[in-house]
Amino acid sequence: MNGKISRRDFLNGTQIAIGTSILSPFQSVLGSPNLEFSLADDYYPPSLTGLRGSHDGSWEVMHSRVLGKKWPTTSYEEKYDLAVVGAGISGLTAAYHYQKKHPQAKILVIDNHDDFGGHAKRNEFNINGEMRIGYGGTEAIDTPSSYSSEAKELIKEIGIDVEKFYEAYDQSLYSSMDLGKGIVFDNQSFSEQKLVTGYNKIPWEEFAANSPMNEKAKSDLVRLWTEKKDYLPVLSDEEKHNLLSKVSYYDFLKDYVKVDQQVLEIFRRWGMSFWVVGIDEVPATSIQSYDGGMPGLNQTLKRSGYRGDEPYIFHFPDGNASVARLLVRKLIPEAVPGSSMEDVVLAKVNYALLDKNSLTRIRLNSTVVNVSHNQDSSAVDLTYVRNYQAHTIRAEKCILACYNSAIPYLCSELPKKQVEGLKYNIKVPLTYTKVMIPNWRAFAELGLDFVYYTNDFFKQVELDYPVSIGGYKFNKSPNDPMVLHMCHSHHSIDIKGPDQWKEGRRRLLSTPFSVFEDHVKSQLDQALGKAGFDAGKDITAITVNRWPHGYSYSNDLLWEPDWPSEESKPWVIGRQQFGRIAIANSDAGAAADTNSAITHGIRAANEMLAI
Ligand SMILES: Cc1cc2nc3c(=O)[nH]c(=O)nc-3n(C[C@H](O)[C@H](O)[C@H](O)COP(=O)(O)OP(=O)(O)OC[C@H]3O[C@@H](n4cnc5c(N)ncnc54)[C@H](O)[C@@H]3O)c2cc1C
Repeated sequence: MNGKISRRDFLNGTQIAIGTSILSPFQSVLGSPNLEFSLADDYYPPSLTGLRGSHDGSWEVMHSRVLGKKWPTTSYEEKYDLAVVGAGISGLTAAYHYQKKHPQAKILVIDNHDDFGGHAKRNEFNINGEMRIGYGGTEAIDTPSSYSSEAKELIKEIGIDVEKFYEAYDQSLYSSMDLGKGIVFDNQSFSEQKLVTGYNKIPWEEFAANSPMNEKAKSDLVRLWTEKKDYLPVLSDEEKHNLLSKVSYYDFLKDYVKVDQQVLEIFRRWGMSFWVVGIDEVPATSIQSYDGGMPGLNQTLKRSGYRGDEPYIFHFPDGNASVARLLVRKLIPEAVPGSSMEDVVLAKVNYALLDKNSLTRIRLNSTVVNVSHNQDSSAVDLTYVRNYQAHTIRAEKCILACYNSAIPYLCSELPKKQVEGLKYNIKVPLTYTKVMIPNWRAFAELGLDFVYYTNDFFKQVELDYPVSIGGYKFNKSPNDPMVLHMCHSHHSIDIKGPDQWKEGRRRLLSTPFSVFEDHVKSQLDQALGKAGFDAGKDITAITVNRWPHGYSYSNDLLWEPDWPSEESKPWVIGRQQFGRIAIANSDAGAAADTNSAITHGIRAANEMLAI
């Protein structure tokens, strides 16, 4: 075994900033390592509040690895048929697909978080004895009709019938209460900070008149929404599409519709929760169907929506955390009681069983720091750090379902071209903040289900999606508790391209909970104060789901080159099988969606099944 450790390695091993590391070679001297990994009976991370998402304790080991710290691969402590790095939807799918073909296989899924699901994170709240559920990340099965055939099949296999959401999701609740969108105009770009309600509901003349915009901007906003004009009349449909796929929506509004600067300032950050860049970097063709359809484009460009006619309703109360829970139910049935998509919503997961007696195990709070083939390439050795201790396991096969850009730090054997392909996938940082309030009367009184802030820390606050499934009922009365959704993503007006995501990540990791809390309070008071909302007494809990490594890289933005072929795309080069190692995660398709996570989980499992 390659268990030799030099003094230098040992010194490096002890210099870890976050604690003392006791390394495996010394365990053979000091006695056998503690291999009891199961979690306590009362371990239940969904009910934790405060700073969640990539919580403290989940990222430090990997960051020190990226900064150069090494943990030597030592004698292995356990042996598996398959090891999967990452217990997000992709890794869980890969494990399930493999297990299906090899029911007797010993599988270990390893994740650095204290919960499984990756971005698909469940948040629970308790208010006056009532349990309310929120989604901390991956919120919906977006456009299931567009899923790959394998992904559609998997969704069915784990027990989800997407048709049931037509019943579960009350599509007319908010409109029947006459609720809609409001905008809080900021006082830098406009004459005053002001909430204006009735966006896209009251006549545009009235909305504009209520706003703190200058007269030209008011008339331009009305024109933008009401004028039925083709702004590129001499071009064919194809020419228009080609042109507008290279023109940002910002420039389209500025140069073709010729709107006032203040109208541009309304929309500048409109797509921040989706693309996490300003509209000056989103092609007009990409944004056309966003948010029900962006103004100015419909008479110019043939509509080609990413969502088509399918409504955005395929949502469990905890988002796709239920997809992750249903996958875990398949992998370790005793850990997730129940048998249907309805009962999974209220199922109490028994975390103590995740890593106990079953053939497939999920090991949480464990960061993989090294992955390499053994000497004769008949297996893969993985070293992970858990509770400051390094452990090595051996697996016949390995699937890396973690962030693709981090893989080169784990796996030093990969060819240079593949490393470059993997590193291309710069992750997109954002937060989903959940705010528990005892009633939502202020929203009802002001006629709001969504508030957009033109330029503030949180880009928006929304009422929850009205979904009732199984025993979980959505609180339809404004007198009852509600989990609000607030989204923050940093906007760098002067940094363009993927560098702004690196800057956003740096800022996110250095922003303490108190800053989020202050903005939650001030922005809610600002929007709702005149209807009696008082953040000082009307907020009972806040959970900040911080995702410094959030969405997969977006490849539909203005800077993306036209790749000559599918094979030349960096993420395709990056995801190639390497010996006994396959690469999954939604990153492998450069698409921030569950379809990509599942499709590439299955593809990676198939690669491993074939050897
Ligand atoms: C806030 C947010 C909202 C989203 N909303 C939607 C939506 O509504 N619909 C949709 O389809 N998609 C959405 N997405 C996209 C989402 O990323 C995918 O749908 C999917 O959940 C990704 O799953 P995954 O398994 O590929 O990756 P992840 O969920 O990121 O899972 C990878 C796991 O690997 C772990 N890991 C990384 N490195 C290591 C290591 N060294 N050792 C151990 N573990 C490691 C990670 O911590 C993580 O837990 C959203 C994403 C975010 C961040």
